[in-house]
Amino acid sequence: MAASADFVWKDGRIVPWAEATVHVSAETVLRGANVFEGMRAYWSEAEKELYIFKNKEHLRRLRQSCKIMRMTVPYSDDEFTQAFIDLLRANKFTAGVHFRPVVYFGEGESYAWKPEDIHNGAFVIAYSRPHAPSIKNGIKSCVSTWRRNSDNASPSRVKAAANYHNSRLAQVEAKMNGFGPPIMLNDRGEVAESPGACFMMVRDGVVITPPVSADILESITRQTLIDLYREELGVTVIERDIDRTELYIADETFFCGSGAEVQPITAVDHYDVGDGKVGPLTRRIQDLYFDIAAGKVDKFRHWLTPVYGNSRP
Ligand code: PMP
Repeated sequence: MAASADFVWKDGRIVPWAEATVHVSAETVLRGANVFEGMRAYWSEAEKELYIFKNKEHLRRLRQSCKIMRMTVPYSDDEFTQAFIDLLRANKFTAGVHFRPVVYFGEGESYAWKPEDIHNGAFVIAYSRPHAPSIKNGIKSCVSTWRRNSDNASPSRVKAAANYHNSRLAQVEAKMNGFGPPIMLNDRGEVAESPGACFMMVRDGVVITPPVSADILESITRQTLIDLYREELGVTVIERDIDRTELYIADETFFCGSGAEVQPITAVDHYDVGDGKVGPLTRRIQDLYFDIAAGKVDKFRHWLTPVYGNSRP
């Protein structure tokens, strides 16, 4: 677990880490009744600036998750953005950060009440989080025996904490069997996603990724990479179902997500992916993604929200 930061933003205030508590009787504790986002901010050493990546898109998805769950969102987008900036500044981060805004059902509320009768809260926690060492040389994955949550049961499109019990079953099983994060199939037996990231593969120079109707989270990184492949690298991207056996003959495979970033996969179920090394289209998109996130590509600086006010014009 990452080391804790000094401060948390909770229900409109910056509070010391130890004081950001919720009572054990709260529905968020008892039933995991909350919806959240996982976001990153990237440090630019050249500008001494911290950049929140795709803030607007994350807030939009938070609202969509809350809408599906019939939860009201207690703050405006501007209030949330200010909360992120205040929190990141308070913690004085000068390196990569992962942070998590959470909308939760608090004390004295019942999750079964009508939405307008529930008073919910929000908090934001942030951790220092450098790139995982494995993004350089890749991980070995497997196909999970656990199926991804289906849309008519516990929709994967919603970033709800409770969905991550499904993720955990898959993640822990894979780890016990000696693998990194697994690939989960959906109820139809097609590739969905990993417990905490989306999936992409390359076959014959074409990037292929499951559609948003494959029981996946509508990942912001996934859409970012689709756009960058098409518009910046001139690579064709197809959104279609992926069969299990395609994983075994793919040229390249990787996971993508705000936390996972671009995580190469070099083997699936003990089959080497391509030649068993990180492939060229994976490496190119990884380099471009990191350059953009750190503010190095002018064309995409509108994707970034500066935290300290030091950014160059
Ligand atoms: N799927 C799941 C289950 C996830 O938890 C995440 C991480 N938020 C993703 C996909 C990737 O989504 P994003 O690119 O928006 O972070």
